[in-house]
Amino acid sequence: MKEIGHWINGKHVKGNSGRFADVFNPATGEVQARVALASKAELDAATADAAKAQVKWGATNPQRRARVMMKFVDLLNRDMDKLAEALSSEHGKTIPDAKGDIQRGLEVIEFCIAAPHLLKGEFTDSAGPGIDMYSMRQPIGVAAGITPFNFPAMIPLWKMGPALACGNAFILKPSERDPSVPMMLAELMKEAGLPDGVLQVINGDKESVDAIIDNPDIAGIGFVGSTPIAEYIYGRGCSNGKRVQCFGGAKNHMIIMPDADLDQAADALVGAGYGAAGERCMAISVAVPVGDETADRLIEKLIPRIEKLKVGPYTGGNDVDYGPVVTAAAKANILKLVESGVAQGAKLVVDGRNFNLQGYEDGFFVGPHLFDHVTTDMDIYRKEIFGPVLSTVRAKTYEEALGYAMDHEYGNGTAIFTRDGDTARDFANRINVGMIGINVPIPVPLAYHTFGGWKKSAFGDLNQHGPDSFRFYTRTKTITSRWPSGIKEGASLNFKQMD
Ligand code: NAD
Repeated sequence: MKEIGHWINGKHVKGNSGRFADVFNPATGEVQARVALASKAELDAATADAAKAQVKWGATNPQRRARVMMKFVDLLNRDMDKLAEALSSEHGKTIPDAKGDIQRGLEVIEFCIAAPHLLKGEFTDSAGPGIDMYSMRQPIGVAAGITPFNFPAMIPLWKMGPALACGNAFILKPSERDPSVPMMLAELMKEAGLPDGVLQVINGDKESVDAIIDNPDIAGIGFVGSTPIAEYIYGRGCSNGKRVQCFGGAKNHMIIMPDADLDQAADALVGAGYGAAGERCMAISVAVPVGDETADRLIEKLIPRIEKLKVGPYTGGNDVDYGPVVTAAAKANILKLVESGVAQGAKLVVDGRNFNLQGYEDGFFVGPHLFDHVTTDMDIYRKEIFGPVLSTVRAKTYEEALGYAMDHEYGNGTAIFTRDGDTARDFANRINVGMIGINVPIPVPLAYHTFGGWKKSAFGDLNQHGPDSFRFYTRTKTITSRWPSGIKEGASLNFKQMD
């Protein structure tokens, strides 16, 4: 059995806690590896080494740090196929989707190559007589990232890239469900020239997360995962005096106006609802057609498209649309929610409950489901399902549709499909959600913009990647300086104002 340990001080190290988690091949249901779960002592020792290594790395000029990122981009491109294969085998997503996962992370590393520019401070010449004032951005020291299973390349890269480019050391605690790719990323960082100890990958579960939150050497934490854990880490991390940003769950609504191109909208819903088996925080899980006629026509267009979807293993060739979900527990939870939808009165117009894939009976495959006539009190509406289940909530008017998205506790992403510019502008202005698509179903911002939701989808005040990430991973120091120039005013006991 393959055993995955930790990456500490530039090499693979076996875990010594005696605790392990199974890593599955979700397509077959087989355990393909076991991953060590670090103890607090292991996390603390790796952090102490990282703090030592950070001193020299933080003092390395930003251009040299950027060159490591440059080389790292080359290596990610070189190993794209290998990384995608490892990613798909533990996560279950298709190879093209795994490459997208890596690519969207790689683009943030490309952004980080601009570190020398992004880290430039501000300068005011002659803020007062003979006085200059300037500010600089310095690394926070050791930062940590705690990441989810659903993007095992992208999200670790979103975290480690900016943190390292800013001159921090970084402790990555990846998801224990698919830990291989994060370990491969660490190997590539070393090959790119990152000094040993600056990036530590510590595998683990709640014990290592709690150790991160309580470790006084860790100055900042970036988390991505489910909302209950996001809230927990945010609360406890902040009370320990750390800067913390936590990104949580989602229930993304897509409004379809009567004037929308319904073929385009139906294609968009199928891609955004069922891609990656619905295991994306930016998946569309609620369709809100405006008017019964729009709803009837949309459902009519959706059904054949959904029934045509090919569900299969990542090894199944290019025509596989989506793969299995990540664990048997995730599958059971999705199917339980589907049953609750039926019991609570929603109409299941595409029923994937009896889906079975010959030869892969033990895999964690879930057939596609489409609900119509969903209401806001149902569990399938209130909860994040994180599976291939799309709910349709019918609205009579645009205002009613907008209200559904506004009133939901999550606010990660949302979209509107319309041909009317006024409606689209009004939607973008009024909606209380962080990322908006106008005729774009999954509006994930590119690397040089920032990514983050509102409401219960994010805790903290800065977003991920883009310029916000350089703010999050640095702290500002402002210097007021005057050089002896012969000005002698005598002592002043007043709070000084600049003349
Ligand atoms: P999760 O919350 O179960 O796990 C995330 C991380 O937290 C993992 O590293 C895990 O080991 C750790 N963790 C789990 N339980 C813990 C506990 N009790 N105490 C401390 N740490 C714990 O999430 P997941 O299932 O891996 O990922 C799916 C979730 O992530 C979904 O809710 C999805 O919407 C969300 N997500 C959000 C974004 C975003 O940017 N908003 C992006 C991707 C995924």
